[in-house]
Formats: sequence, C-alpha cells, structure tokens
Amino acid sequence: MTIETLFTLKLSFFILGFIIFLILETIYPNRIWTSKRYKRVTFHAALAIFNTILMRIPMLFILMPVLLIVTESQGGVFYDLGILKFILSFLILDIALYWWHRFNHTNQFLWKFHFVHHVDTHMDVGTSLRFHIGELFLSTLYKAIIIYLFGITLSEFLFYELILVLSIQFHHSNIKLADQTESILSKVIVTPKYHTNHHTVTKGSREANYASIFTIWDKVFLSYKDATDGERLEMGLENREMELKFLSNIQYPFKKNVDSL
Ligand SMILES: [Zn+2]
Ligand SMILES: [Zn+2]
Repeated sequence: MTIETLFTLKLSFFILGFIIFLILETIYPNRIWTSKRYKRVTFHAALAIFNTILMRIPMLFILMPVLLIVTESQGGVFYDLGILKFILSFLILDIALYWWHRFNHTNQFLWKFHFVHHVDTHMDVGTSLRFHIGELFLSTLYKAIIIYLFGITLSEFLFYELILVLSIQFHHSNIKLADQTESILSKVIVTPKYHTNHHTVTKGSREANYASIFTIWDKVFLSYKDATDGERLEMGLENREMELKFLSNIQYPFKKNVDSL
C-alpha cells in the first residue's frame, strides 16, 4: 500500500463519516441551530481543506517516516504479542490522546490553539473539523513520539485513526439519542451528550471529560464531571464575534492579548 493510497483511504473515510453524521443530525437533531447552517458548513469546510493541505507536510516528513521505521523493525519490544499487541496499541494511543487533550487545557501555550475548537457556540459534526492547524501540527509531533516509544506499527495506527475519526464526528454531532441508549453507550464510549459537557461555558465540566474514544480514562484519571441540562445549553467561550471568521481563527494564537486559561 502506497502512502498516497493511505491518504486517500483516510480522507474517504473522513468524508463518508461526515456525510452520514450530517444526514443523521438533520433528521434527528438535538438542539435547534441558532446560526445559519450553510455558514457553519462553509466555514468548517474551508478550515478542513486548509488543514488537510498543510497537514501533508508533517504527515509525510514526520509521521510516516517514524511509522515506517517502527513497522520495519517489526513493532519493537511488543512484536510477538500478536492480537494482544494490536489491542494494547489501541489502548495506549487512546490514553495518550486523553492526556494530549488534557494538556491542551492545562498548558497556556497549547490552550491558545485548542481555544479555537472551543470558541464554537454550537456543536454539530462541523465542530469535528474545527481545529487550529498549530494544534494539528503539535499533536502529530506528540503522536510520532508515542509511536516511537511504544513501537506502534502502521496498521495499528491506521486502525486507531479511522475509529478515532468516526468517534470525533459522532460525539460532536447534534444527534438526539434516546436517554437510555446515551446512558448505556457513554459508559463505554464518548457520546454527543458526554462531549457536550466538555464544550460548556461552565469551567467545571469544560475542564473535565477529556476522553476521545473510551470514557474510562476520565474515570481512571479523575476528570469525569457531568454538567446540568442548563449548563449544556450554553456552549463556547468569550470572543463570540470570531466564531465563524476564518482569518481571526487562524491568527488567534499569535496575538499578544489572548484569553488566559
Ligand atoms: Zn477541549
Ligand atoms: Zn470537542
């Protein structure tokens, strides 16, 4: 499989998942959209195209070389573990991402970039595209270090990334699930309601609930905090005027007077 095929596979998965969740949230919406949906879709699509083009650089020059080195050395110390290694790698990547997300909320420098994700005052599948290119660059570096340290192979990483894409699209989507379904699912994976807790203006629940796929990490590392129904209605941060402005979002981390944590 060539690198081009891998890029195409991931992108196709990404687009397909996006369309499915966009249709589902249109049929079964949870919250009413307060801003025009076409404006949200246009803004998030522009950001996604910009990010996809620029992300080729760190993927080609950092992530892929590290993955190829590790894969060629046959998965390092865990090589003989087979399926167990596959599961272990999945869990390691998910814990690593949990901590990356947590660092983004506790480190002032990282927060400048992650802030852009939280400025959204609504949440739908478009929010899953709303990441500053700086955050994506830095998280690629972080992932490369994890891959190298734990001997994660190309197929293990690719599998995790594909499930991660679906998980991020799902838990940002504005889909109304039955209360019971939501409550059972959120015991295992991050659901829309669970992640809404993390997008509240209220700091208590926003600076908690960092999980990406499995919710257990919030329990293990003591960062689970349920918000009230009222708190879940108010999402986002201050600086609402920059919500859907492309340039303001890109420039934001480089401005002198940015909001502190
Ligand atoms: Zn966050
Ligand atoms: Zn989010």
